Amino acid sequence: MAQIGKAVIAGGGVGGLTLALALTRAGVEVEVHEKYDHLQSRRSGFTIWSYAIRHLLDLGVDGDRLAQEGSAIERTEIRSRHGRLIESLPVGEASRRLGAPTYDIQRAGLQAALIEALPDGVLRLGSEVVGVEQDGDSATLLLAGGGRASGDVAIGCDGAHSVLRDLVTRHEHAFHYSGFGGWSAVIPFTHELLPARHHVEIWEKGSKGGVADVGGGSARWYALHRAPEADKDKPVVKDEILAHVEGWYELLPAAIETTPVEQIVRTAPGDMDPLTSWVDGRIALLGDAAHATTPFAAMGACMTIEDAATLAPLLVARPYAEAFAEYQETRKRNADAVVKHGRTMGHVSQLKNGFALWLRDEFLAHVPDNQLEQIATDMASGR
Ligand SMILES: Cc1cc2nc3c(=O)[nH]c(=O)nc-3n(C[C@H](O)[C@H](O)[C@H](O)COP(=O)(O)OP(=O)(O)OC[C@H]3O[C@@H](n4cnc5c(N)ncnc54)[C@H](O)[C@@H]3O)c2cc1C
Repeated sequence: MAQIGKAVIAGGGVGGLTLALALTRAGVEVEVHEKYDHLQSRRSGFTIWSYAIRHLLDLGVDGDRLAQEGSAIERTEIRSRHGRLIESLPVGEASRRLGAPTYDIQRAGLQAALIEALPDGVLRLGSEVVGVEQDGDSATLLLAGGGRASGDVAIGCDGAHSVLRDLVTRHEHAFHYSGFGGWSAVIPFTHELLPARHHVEIWEKGSKGGVADVGGGSARWYALHRAPEADKDKPVVKDEILAHVEGWYELLPAAIETTPVEQIVRTAPGDMDPLTSWVDGRIALLGDAAHATTPFAAMGACMTIEDAATLAPLLVARPYAEAFAEYQETRKRNADAVVKHGRTMGHVSQLKNGFALWLRDEFLAHVPDNQLEQIATDMASGR
């Protein structure tokens, strides 16, 4: 029998839903409170590496459903602004060796696959968490409108701008804007320069972009550049994005050109310095709430899935205080290191100095095949 009877979770993103799935499968009662009254729109996507997909499959997420919502990536190409191939990483090969595909997938599709695997009634949409309390017996989420949701433990899976983090850490660290803003979209799109099951990333001075097949005749694209934080509130102007990528490898401008402006979302990624602790009594943080990272390492959602897959069996097997301590011990050092790596990747991929840029690209272009396999394996396995 599980050591806890009930868990209350703030946030119904990838972290909250994965944790809910893992706990309900072990017989724990779960409520997930998600502030929005609708599911995520089909306008953005991400790369979910093999090791995180393995966890989802082990938790009973339908593999066919994932394959429907995403594309199992064979190769990630890194190209220069003009399209010169700098590197081609054998992601499919590495993922097969690890026993699960790496997907480029729509966020909404992944969320739908997780919700389908959950029992009815677990996810409460339109339920915003505004605070949390605890006493010797329970932890309670305080909901907008005056409602309360109590359990043995409360988990903050409420993302990069977490309300629970502020309360657990007493405002110890704020989320820092990365200095890079951008745009992304998911659209029906095929192109001769985008083979099926490929992700093409384009590196430019102080900027990068990419286009990835997400299956079903659709693709996701993104472009990031140095930008003031205030840009995140500006309306999206397609001509501005096209001017930014003028002269780039034509795949990206072609994808942007065909995207209706209302399908484009602005992104303003950031990260956090390591928190002193992810835990306060019966409350713990998970995913971006604990370790928001920039998208340069493309690992945030994967780490979040790993957090959930680590925490759930501990909460089932041990008293909550021991479970939280071991969860933090197991996950925190690794997660903090990935956040740091994400920052470094940001600096490397966004180099502005011409000579440094040339050195980076030449170095990468001459990496031997066996090391490329190792890089792909490291990424696919989350090492
Ligand atoms: C541009 C970009 C590209 C990325 N690309 C990748 C990638 O390729 N691969 C990868 O692994 N990661 C990627 N990431 C990171 C990834 O998106 C996050 O790490 C991941 O979504 C974190 O999951 P989460 O559940 O912790 O938070 P979220 O997915 O943000 O979910 C948090 C949920 O909590 C809800 N919520 C927030 N506040 C409250 C509240 N007060 N009450 C109730 N509900 C609340 C939100 O509505 C949301 O549904 C990328 C991030 C960005 C910004």
